[in-house]
Amino acid sequence: MARVLVEGVEKSFGRTRVLKGVDLEVQDREFLVLLGPSGCGKTTLLRIVAGLEWPDRGRVFLGEREVTHLPPRARGLAMVFQNYAVFPHLTVFENIAFGLRMRRLPERVVREKVGWAAELLRIGELLSRYPAQLSGGQRQRVAVARALAVEPEVLLMDEPLSNLDALLRLELRAELKRLLKEAGITTLYVTHDQVEAMGMADRIAVMREGEIVQCDLPLEVYRNPRDTFVGGFLGNPPMNFLRLGPGAASTLLGRSFSCEVLVGVRPEDLEVYGAEVPGAFPGRVLVVEPLGPHQLVTLEAFGQALKATVPSSLPLRPGEEVWLKASPEGVRLFDPQTGRAWS
Ligand code: ATP
Repeated sequence: MARVLVEGVEKSFGRTRVLKGVDLEVQDREFLVLLGPSGCGKTTLLRIVAGLEWPDRGRVFLGEREVTHLPPRARGLAMVFQNYAVFPHLTVFENIAFGLRMRRLPERVVREKVGWAAELLRIGELLSRYPAQLSGGQRQRVAVARALAVEPEVLLMDEPLSNLDALLRLELRAELKRLLKEAGITTLYVTHDQVEAMGMADRIAVMREGEIVQCDLPLEVYRNPRDTFVGGFLGNPPMNFLRLGPGAASTLLGRSFSCEVLVGVRPEDLEVYGAEVPGAFPGRVLVVEPLGPHQLVTLEAFGQALKATVPSSLPLRPGEEVWLKASPEGVRLFDPQTGRAWS
């Protein structure tokens, strides 16, 4: 069974506490995405799982085996890192064959496995080229093929698509997702791109300042963020937060409140009307950004700025008076002091 288990892992560099007690389980064959802003400790955690760093405290298991202090090569996992280093002096074939040759496998087996990995990544025609003769996306696929050729049970990837243009990223995202599922590989994948995380993950672990704040199914993290950080990190544009007194909260939510609340509502859950409708509250259009089928509208309501995605069929101009409604199932309430979700 190829699960990855991280228990109570702590790590400091000098006086900086980078990991503050991380618990994480990647289940057998699961694609788990570690998502968080720059500097929150994602790469450090991945390097600890890989054996490139040791934790100050805590333990790492692969399957049932504790590997906390084993060197990388004794762990039997494969890695693809951000800069997807491929060896410039080796052909694509030899790059992919690298890990297999290290294992001293017979030539016939090496050819078979390189062929399989190259086919999966659709780079079978490039085997005799050198990296300098490849595009960035092709080099990326060579790096992934090299990691897959050894048929790892566990694959660690650190922002493997970060250097690619948007279109290629989109294409490779889907390709990677398909082939990792097909091959049944347990994957821990690091990114700070929340769209990539939503699209690829079986589960997402959201990390902040050395801690995992929420680990759940992508839609669950999106719909029910545990706190305002998670709600504000996922979604493009992110969740709106409105600080409302008891009176305004009661009007907006249709039930009575005795204290201030923080209301979270996603831009797509705000309905915008050109005329007054029952249960709506007034607002004013500040900015309109046409995006094709939708327009992204910045509004002012309750003295605060909000964003709403509105169908392009509704004509809106800056300065215009509008009426807003939030669908009850799209509204989340947070504690104004702690930012934690009210369950
Ligand atoms: P990014 O998305 O920018 O890659 P990250 O979430 O992967 O960020 P890490 O690379 O794990 O973050 O770094 C976390 C913190 O630890 C940062 O503040 C970084 O400067 C610090 N750090 C990482 N490695 C070392 C090191 N070897 N020595 C000192 N500080 C380090």
